[in-house]
Amino acid sequence: MRINNAHMKFCSACILISFATTCLISIFITSTPENCDCNRNTQQIKSDTVDASIELKPKLAILVPFRDRFDELLQFAPHMMKFLDRQAIPHHIFILNQVDRYRFNRASLINVGFLYTKQDYDYIAMHDVDLLPLNDQLHYDYPSDGPFHVAAPNLHPKYHYKTFVGGILLVKREHFELMNGMSNRYWGWGLEDDEFYVRIKDAHLPVKRPINITTGINDTFAHVHDRVHRKRDTAKCFNQREVTRKRDRETGLSTLKHRISRINNLRIDDIVNVTIVNIELICNHQETPWCDCSRDEMGKKIL
Ligand code: UDP
Ligand code: MN
Repeated sequence: MRINNAHMKFCSACILISFATTCLISIFITSTPENCDCNRNTQQIKSDTVDASIELKPKLAILVPFRDRFDELLQFAPHMMKFLDRQAIPHHIFILNQVDRYRFNRASLINVGFLYTKQDYDYIAMHDVDLLPLNDQLHYDYPSDGPFHVAAPNLHPKYHYKTFVGGILLVKREHFELMNGMSNRYWGWGLEDDEFYVRIKDAHLPVKRPINITTGINDTFAHVHDRVHRKRDTAKCFNQREVTRKRDRETGLSTLKHRISRINNLRIDDIVNVTIVNIELICNHQETPWCDCSRDEMGKKIL
C-alpha cells in the first residue's frame, strides 16, 4: 500500500492526540486524593500543629539536688509532671543523687546536672525536692531576660528576705554559663543560694519573680519537710564560716570535680520517667576541709 500525504497527516494527528491524552491522565492521577495528604482529617492536622509548637518550645531540665529523700521524690515527680504538662512545658526530671560520703553539696550537684543536660536543654530549674508548686499561676516559662525566682520571698513558706533565690530558680543555659555556675565551696546546709545571688548581681542580670499571685505564704507551695525527721546539716568546721560568707570568684562550672558512677531510669506510678544521675563529688581537703568534719586537711580521720 502506498503511503500518501493524507495518511501521514492522519498518523501524526493520532500520535499527537494519544500523547495529549496520556499527559492529561497522568496529571489527573497525581492530583487524586490518594496521592496527597487530603485524607487526613482536620483534627489530625490540628493536633500535629500543637505537637509541632511544643517541639519548638525551649526545653526545661528540672535539676533536683538529692540524697535520702525517697518519700519526697515519690510525691514530687508525678506532681511536677502534671503541673508542667498543664502549662505545656517540655521538660524532664533529673535527680542528682549524691552518692559519695562527703557532706551534702547542693550547688555542686546542680553544676553536675547542668553539664549533664546542657546539650539537650535550653534552661534549668534548680528545684528542691520538697517544694511543690500549688498555684497554676506560677509559670515555668523560658527565662530569656534573667533568672526567674519561682519560690519568691513573698510566696515561700519559710524564707522571706529580699535577696533569697533558693527553693526554685529558673536560669537559661547562657546565663548559667556566664556566671560560671554555682560555687563548689558549700558543703553542708546553707548560703550557696545567697552566694549565687551575688553572682547574678555581678553579671548585671535582673531577678524576675511571679506577679499577680493571689495566694500567700501558706498556700502557694507545699513544703514537705519535717525538721526533726529531715534535720538540716548546719555544722561548721575549720574556717567554713569565714570562707562561705564571702563571694567566691574562683570555683564553679570550670573547676568542678566529680564522677558520674551510674545512670538509672526510674518510672513512678506508671506516668512519669525520671533520670537518676548518681554523682560522686570529689573534695580537695586542703581547699575545703569542711566537706568532712571528721577528717583533717590531709583527709586523715581525726581521732
Ligand atoms: N536535700 C536532699 N538531701 C539532704 C539535704 C538536702 O535531698 O540531705 C535537697 C532536697 O532537694 C532539699 C534541698 O536539698 O529540698 C534543700 O534542702 P533543705 O530542704 O534541707 O533546705 P530548706 O530550704 O528546707 O532549708
Ligand atoms: Mn526543705
